Amino acid sequence: MTRRRRIYEGKAKILYEGPEPGTLVQFFKDDATAFNAKKHDIIDGKGVLNNRISEYIFTSLNRIGIPTHFIKRLNMREQLIKEVEIIPIEVVVRNIAAGQLSERLGIPEGEVLPRSIIEFYYKKDELNDPLVSEEHITAFGWATPQEIDDMMALAIRVNDFLSGLFLGVGIQLVDFKIELGRLYENDIMRIIVADEISPDCCRLWDVKTNKKLDKDRFRQDMGGLLDAYNEVATRLGLINENEAPRGKGPVLVKSDKED
Ligand code: UDP
Repeated sequence: MTRRRRIYEGKAKILYEGPEPGTLVQFFKDDATAFNAKKHDIIDGKGVLNNRISEYIFTSLNRIGIPTHFIKRLNMREQLIKEVEIIPIEVVVRNIAAGQLSERLGIPEGEVLPRSIIEFYYKKDELNDPLVSEEHITAFGWATPQEIDDMMALAIRVNDFLSGLFLGVGIQLVDFKIELGRLYENDIMRIIVADEISPDCCRLWDVKTNKKLDKDRFRQDMGGLLDAYNEVATRLGLINENEAPRGKGPVLVKSDKED
């Protein structure tokens, strides 16, 4: 077996060299981290679920014309992606107050925001990913004003799509984080959605009970993280109840003649 070249290892994923130039393989680990990796645990099977959930969301985004880096899922833990130049800004969209917004501004968790709010965080572990303004982003050259406009437009479209998708299965999208990258194709560059979208980077609450179905279960030592992620995948129709996460399998199609 040949050893693949490892390009980058993050807290929850590893990137390997892909089979063709311009591609990478993204591997989902079982590591759960919070508070800039001060809290760390291994949760068996989390990577498999996030790979599956992220595949579904990115495939859906691609299908409705929101460009992403996703090409295809390769196996339980890996997906083939387009190589992009990651913009060092995390874009957070919030619909309901929670987390840092509640702490920073004293808005009670659960309060519906007057409108969706977009925030930018500078990706820098040593600094705990500080909140930054558009002024910082353009002054320090992390992205241009045009790129910020594109990032915001994509974030709003993702928010609209995800809010509807999750509401349809009885889940409220409280907030989420996306990462974006520059894709260079021939002479043009465009900004596309990269990284992953999974319960690791969204806040998802059950509509009826407000039960948390996301990484806050780990951050707040509530337990039941894997069950919660399983619940999200099951409601999205990605796995059957009480089944290991591997998709629905073949469905018998009756021919018209038999009816
Ligand atoms: N988030 C993330 N990665 C980060 C920081 C935040 O995926 O490094 C997500 C988080 O899961 C939540 C949203 O972004 O869905 C907003 O998080 P917040 O700013 O409230 O920070 P937190 O309370 O998670 O530290």
